[in-house]
Amino acid sequence: MKNQCGWIALVGTSPGRDHLKGPEKADWLIIGAGITGLSAAHSLAEMYPEARIVVVDRQRAAQGASARNSGYAVSHENPGDDELIGHSGFAGFEVDSAIGCAAGEEVRKRISRHGIECEYRDSGYYFAVNDPAKLTHIEAKLKTLSAVGASAQFLEGGQLAQKLGTRHYRAAIWCGNGNALLQPAKYVKGLLDALPANVTVFENTEISGLEPVRGGVRAIGTQGSIEAGQVLVCLNAFIPRAGIDNSATFPMELSASLTRPLTDREYAAIGSVEPWGVLSTRPLGATVRLTPDRRVMIRNT
Ligand SMILES: Cc1cc2nc3c(=O)[nH]c(=O)nc-3n(C[C@H](O)[C@H](O)[C@H](O)COP(=O)(O)OP(=O)(O)OC[C@H]3O[C@@H](n4cnc5c(N)ncnc54)[C@H](O)[C@@H]3O)c2cc1C
Repeated sequence: MKNQCGWIALVGTSPGRDHLKGPEKADWLIIGAGITGLSAAHSLAEMYPEARIVVVDRQRAAQGASARNSGYAVSHENPGDDELIGHSGFAGFEVDSAIGCAAGEEVRKRISRHGIECEYRDSGYYFAVNDPAKLTHIEAKLKTLSAVGASAQFLEGGQLAQKLGTRHYRAAIWCGNGNALLQPAKYVKGLLDALPANVTVFENTEISGLEPVRGGVRAIGTQGSIEAGQVLVCLNAFIPRAGIDNSATFPMELSASLTRPLTDREYAAIGSVEPWGVLSTRPLGATVRLTPDRRVMIRNT
């Protein structure tokens, strides 16, 4: 078995870019070429077409967690008990949903603006359980999801098995109108490949510290440095690596697997169902997908 990211292996890589050598200057420096850094680069390039924008990443761009995740574009989460309509957490759930919807819409717009082929499917996904007793407050959840603009439907038994092609899951809430699935490595590679000319990317360039200089900040790399008027640190869990110690973030390792495509016979045996995604109703529970090219993806804890 090869230990490599299945999503990335299926996409291929963009042409390599230089690493940082010597001193550089930029108007904007973006540290981290994941979904956050690349989205920021596009937005800044649009807002300031005359500006020099530099993006750096310690490895190949667009190949970190942003390319390796499960590919759920989440507008609506499964509400927790305290977030149900009428409970104290509902106001917060409304805010989270509004942010999720705006982010989901942004992803959809970028896909269409840059013509990114990333197997995007705006058809929702399932919050599913094997033990029906673990899916509680169903009516209240449906009402809560509908109150924040989601479409939601309860399915169980044979009706659910017909959708998923397996009887492993015995009850679920399907949730759509915003929730979508995509191939994450294709999406971020699409963002990288579509960067405009005023954005320069340095790969294999690790930033280990930031220091104030007149009119901005200097970022220190192994073989060079960049002085910029403005710096965006888009490192997610890796913020401490750039020398910012009090970020309260830390990285966590998760594993996932992606099978070969099901054969025609195997696919027929599960009822030739449409691609789907299941999110566990438990925090950090396994995530499972049947992809459009008929592979099974399982993200374990
Ligand atoms: C297995 C898994 C499944 C997930 N599933 C989902 C999902 O289905 N839906 C969802 O919305 N989210 C999911 N996530 C979370 C999602 O992947 C992250 O929230 C997202 O990738 C964060 O993007 P980012 O650009 O902020 O950070 P990252 O993608 O982590 O990008 C940060 C970049 O910074 C670079 N870097 C690190 N240190 C330095 C340094 N010192 N100098 C320069 N560069 C550096 C890294 O190489 C990396 O490319 C999942 C995550 C994992 C691990």
